[in-house]
Amino acid sequence: MNTYLKLKGEERNSFLQSKFLYYRKFNTYVVLFASLASITYFISDCQLFGRFAWETLFQRLFILVPLTAFLIVNARCTNYKIMSIFSQFMAHMMMWCTIGAIYYLPIKTHASEGFIIMHIVFMACTFASPFWVSTISHCCVFLNIIVSHQFNHYENIDIMFSLGLPCMLGIIATNYVMCGVYFDTYTVKHQLEDSLVMDPLTKVYNRHKLPSIVNGRAFDFEGVDDVSVLMADIDFFKHINDTYGHDKGDEVLKSVANVIKGCTRSNDYIIRWGGEEFVVIMPNCPIDQAVNVAERIREKVAATDNGVCPVTISLGVARYDGFNYENAITAADKALYEAKESGRNRVVSA
Ligand code: GH3
Ligand code: MG
Ligand code: MG
Repeated sequence: MNTYLKLKGEERNSFLQSKFLYYRKFNTYVVLFASLASITYFISDCQLFGRFAWETLFQRLFILVPLTAFLIVNARCTNYKIMSIFSQFMAHMMMWCTIGAIYYLPIKTHASEGFIIMHIVFMACTFASPFWVSTISHCCVFLNIIVSHQFNHYENIDIMFSLGLPCMLGIIATNYVMCGVYFDTYTVKHQLEDSLVMDPLTKVYNRHKLPSIVNGRAFDFEGVDDVSVLMADIDFFKHINDTYGHDKGDEVLKSVANVIKGCTRSNDYIIRWGGEEFVVIMPNCPIDQAVNVAERIREKVAATDNGVCPVTISLGVARYDGFNYENAITAADKALYEAKESGRNRVVSA
């Protein structure tokens, strides 16, 4: 079974949103060109009538109404749930405009060819949609045929089913495989993105993480009130390297990073800022709480056996003003400098 079908909750939404965005442009052109192509079926109407087919002109042109709505919404909306349902709706609208035109045609046997082409439209619309949405929507093609048979009285409805069903099953199988193919791309993309923003030694973020959480000079957090910034720097780390060697220094760095992870929440961002400097960005954390977190980190670092030597850490804490994150980092850096100047192994709040 395709792994992506086992995804749940936020992970599943994130995959489907990513899949939609990947195929969004393709999906727009499919809906646009398929809608316009369905109008050109008017030529075959004229051939069947042997004259200008006034009777089907309105039905053929009617697709322009939902198409205009689709293009307007599509230009503004990037939500995969709304847009995938709208795309499937457009495929059904194309089918129903065709059904409306068939009602007036003197010969209805060619409807079976028209409906096979509809399967292709459904296939093209499926790439941007969740597998189950497109599958259920595609099955409804047969419902459309059965309902419209009540008034269109197709002479060859049995042929429509015997030709259409294998076509539909083949397309569903292709969609299933294509979802899996995109899932592989999605997984590799995520692994690459993670490796780009992760520090391999301490397994916290590096500075490349910053662009994804800021917008201009401001933090890009939704519905967040207080943001605090903490900067931490290991005391006399150069001495540890000089005394015990670089590898042991690395062990100490990993241990300190683990202490910081243990003292912060999952929605805090821990960034290895430089050699032995860490920045922690804490959304929804007033400055007094941030000072408590910093104090906890300081105590725990001093009390933790890192397997090399006792170590202490100095920390500076600052409040983000809501506009400029660089100011908050500079203020935390200044507070850290004060902590160093006033004897190390302490917390200073800006
Ligand atoms: P202070 O108390 O003033 O912070 O003194 P310090 O010795 O910790 O400060 P300084 O910034 O002078 O030293 C930082 C050292 O961190 C220098 C560098 O060799 C070491 N360092 C930087 N990156 C790494 C790393 O990835 N691994 C190891 N083992 N050491 C590193
Ligand atoms: Mg240091
Ligand atoms: Mg330093």
